[in-house]
Amino acid sequence: MNTMSNLAILGGRVIDPAQNVDRPAAVLIKDGRVEEITARPLSKGPEGYEVIDAAGLIVAPGFIDLHCHLREPGSEHKETIATGTAAAARGGFTTVCAMANTDPCPDNAAVVGDLLRRIERDAAVRVLPIGAITLGRRGEHLAPMAELAASGVVAFSDDGDPVMDPDVMRHALSYATGLRGVVHGAQRRLPIINHAEDRGLSRDGQMHDGAVAARLGLAGIPGEAEVAMVARDIHLAELTGGRLHIPHVSTRRAVEHVRAAKARGLHVTAEATPHHLTLTDVWAYGLHGETPHGLSLAAYDTNTKVSPPLRSQDDVDAVTGALADGTIDAIATDHAPHAMTDKVCTYHEAAKGINCLETAFAQVMSLVLGGRIALPALIERMSAAPARVLGLGLGSLKRGWPADLVFIDHDAEWTVDAGLFASKARNTPLDGVGLRGRVMATICAGRVVFDARAGLALPRPGNPRRAGDSSGGRT
Ligand SMILES: [Zn+2]
Repeated sequence: MNTMSNLAILGGRVIDPAQNVDRPAAVLIKDGRVEEITARPLSKGPEGYEVIDAAGLIVAPGFIDLHCHLREPGSEHKETIATGTAAAARGGFTTVCAMANTDPCPDNAAVVGDLLRRIERDAAVRVLPIGAITLGRRGEHLAPMAELAASGVVAFSDDGDPVMDPDVMRHALSYATGLRGVVHGAQRRLPIINHAEDRGLSRDGQMHDGAVAARLGLAGIPGEAEVAMVARDIHLAELTGGRLHIPHVSTRRAVEHVRAAKARGLHVTAEATPHHLTLTDVWAYGLHGETPHGLSLAAYDTNTKVSPPLRSQDDVDAVTGALADGTIDAIATDHAPHAMTDKVCTYHEAAKGINCLETAFAQVMSLVLGGRIALPALIERMSAAPARVLGLGLGSLKRGWPADLVFIDHDAEWTVDAGLFASKARNTPLDGVGLRGRVMATICAGRVVFDARAGLALPRPGNPRRAGDSSGGRT
């Protein structure tokens, strides 16, 4: 298939939440941009258009991930821009934001410039870089934020390292109010994304502080570690008028703080991950969410170790409810690929993070099947909403916008096989789990970047290297 021809996508149910569209229609794509969502379905494409059959499928705006780890530069044995974006394409994502915990750290324009050249060369989908808040992500001195804004970052974050010093965070929020980044030719305010964890409370905790941690004999991380930091950052956003985005919200009390902040009119946004929306700390037993009578060899499943940790069912219910009512704006994966050596070890030694891009949609599709959120709203939280968080002109099939689309079979049942991931890494607690809802194809800027029906549109990346690496603690 000529990947840049004009395309007529026929036979699908088109869902575009930003335009309130949910109907059978054709989507026409010209020169990489959306030309039209037709008023009625077409039986054949216009002259000169290549037809893509979407019969039985949902056609929606491509997903946007506010938070993922591509590991390049610095940890290419875990993931690269090529493999990470191949995984993104398979997951239906057409835009991903690359988190700042690479080595070297993107705390200056030279590193961001190098990253943009690598993206230009290797990425299968659009990649938007996030710059560091502080030099070396050490939380001590602000990075040259104006220089970073001019270099093309879409947000500032020290990723898994919270800015613990409130005065540094105050200045970051304050300074960012005067900055405008240039994202896709338009001026944008750039949010500060601070990992919400008070290290004074989480200390050496390994998982959520609760009955499962007690039974497994692992040090717990109380929900208050997140709540305290979310509360502090909201107060600092109020003080400075700063633009705050809260990553991977995992607790009921943090949700309440975000809800109250929005009610006060603060420009605070928040995201939640597929795992914090669907999995609890019980998964640490390694039995796919079952609680055993006696511990089995499966217990201490290191693939469940993540930051913030998987929480209680009550927290999951609160986060899910907040996603449905819009308190939590968007779903973000926090895709965190790790090498075997980072996970085949004790729970204490294991690196934090879950490989998520290729399972994300099917995971959260379970919320639709469980009646927690409607499918168009779920799609909105993965497309238009994350675009709104960053002020991007993406996430909808509006006329003239980049033709980013995902094709979904919302009924397809499949079993996760981490061995088949396009990602270099295999660290998912869902290996062998049956899911419903599947991404069948992805089009990014008018190019087919993944098509499950045509075999695999992308070359299969090599097997994960198992070179000795022990950057434990990295998320
Ligand atoms: Zn992260």
